[in-house]
Amino acid sequence: MKVAVIGGGVIGVSCALHLARAGAQVQLFTEKELASGASGRSLSWLNASGPWPADYYHLRMAGIDRFRTLYANNPDINWLKFNGGIFWSDKTNEVQEWHDIEHARGYDSQRFSAADIVHIADNIDPTAIKNTGIYNPGEGWVNLPDLIEHTMAEFISLGGILTEHAGKTVPLLDAQHVTKGVISTNNGECHCDKVLLACGAATPKILAEFGVDLPDGSVLSMLAITQPANNTPTVVLNTPRVAIRPHPGNALAMDHSWYADDIKEDATGNFSVPDAIVETLLAEGNRILKSTTPLTLANYKAGWKPVPADGFPVLGALRDIPGTYVAFTHSGATLSLIIGELLSWEIINGKSHPMLASFRPNRFNTK
Ligand SMILES: Cc1cc2nc3c(=O)[nH]c(=O)nc-3n(C[C@H](O)[C@H](O)[C@H](O)COP(=O)(O)OP(=O)(O)OC[C@H]3O[C@@H](n4cnc5c(N)ncnc54)[C@H](O)[C@@H]3O)c2cc1C
Repeated sequence: MKVAVIGGGVIGVSCALHLARAGAQVQLFTEKELASGASGRSLSWLNASGPWPADYYHLRMAGIDRFRTLYANNPDINWLKFNGGIFWSDKTNEVQEWHDIEHARGYDSQRFSAADIVHIADNIDPTAIKNTGIYNPGEGWVNLPDLIEHTMAEFISLGGILTEHAGKTVPLLDAQHVTKGVISTNNGECHCDKVLLACGAATPKILAEFGVDLPDGSVLSMLAITQPANNTPTVVLNTPRVAIRPHPGNALAMDHSWYADDIKEDATGNFSVPDAIVETLLAEGNRILKSTTPLTLANYKAGWKPVPADGFPVLGALRDIPGTYVAFTHSGATLSLIIGELLSWEIINGKSHPMLASFRPNRFNTK
């Protein structure tokens, strides 16, 4: 089987590798370079926490399981770690609600008080924690550009073809509206049996050109990376005004949602954030981490974060474009390996995997 994958983010790359592992001839087309979208600026906290539906929980747990295997097979990598996650909230009942559902599911979820934090991570200021918090020892983080590079090395070794700077690429249909390949601005036509569209936040707009309605809830986001720092935490922190994870090279990655409305896009498609926002985010990191030497910025990147309108993954065959599949999701770091595995199985075998049943594109009644 010949398959074209459109989109060089973590989802497209993972699917391309799993298709190649299954013996398909795969060509991956991406508009610019690999990881130029959300995967190049993601916090990538690997987790299944929070009060979300059970099928979404199970898919994320399977996602974490595949990352654990990857880590066990590559214990020396510095871009994937499982040192746990810490969550606290300013909302009185939120910690209790999260903990109750996590505990009911058997997710490792431990309540702590501010005074106990020193036993979990000794570089966090207890006075920053207003109420209690949750420690999830089974959680981790990954740096997606490194994962993409690692994944592509195996893809190429299996004979996969990578076409970067392909320009805009879309499915190519015959007169009956059946997929016969892809067409890209810089590469022209490529004929194949199946196509997977994994274009992150651009996915709904591409499908709209084919008359398929995929409700879009994508949001603007920004990830800041610090210069190397001393005494950085090994856990991921999800707190009311900043989320923080370790970053390769003793640095930290930070993001949050409170400044989304302040991110601006110019006429050339470049995104910027006021300096004061970045400084406030770093200051909050300094406050929480008791930094003796203040954290300084190395760089930041902003842009769209892909989010389906109802918040849940959109995965599988498109009913109205036979031969074309879609993968459009939030939490795509946690889900990347399991989506690659299950969706490639569906594409190769023409079957439906039960774990993806709740996440079909036609739940939105697409034409
Ligand atoms: C700030 C931030 C924090 C996040 N935090 C977490 C987290 O803590 N945990 C978690 O699990 N997930 C997190 N996510 C989500 C996760 O990073 C994304 O879900 C994931 O990276 C999406 O990958 P993707 O491959 O679908 O899309 P992208 O990475 O956006 O890749 C899509 C690619 O398609 C290309 N493309 C677009 N249109 C075309 C076209 N027509 N032709 C060819 N190529 C095209 C783009 O150039 C891009 O390279 C976060 C994301 C952001 C931005």
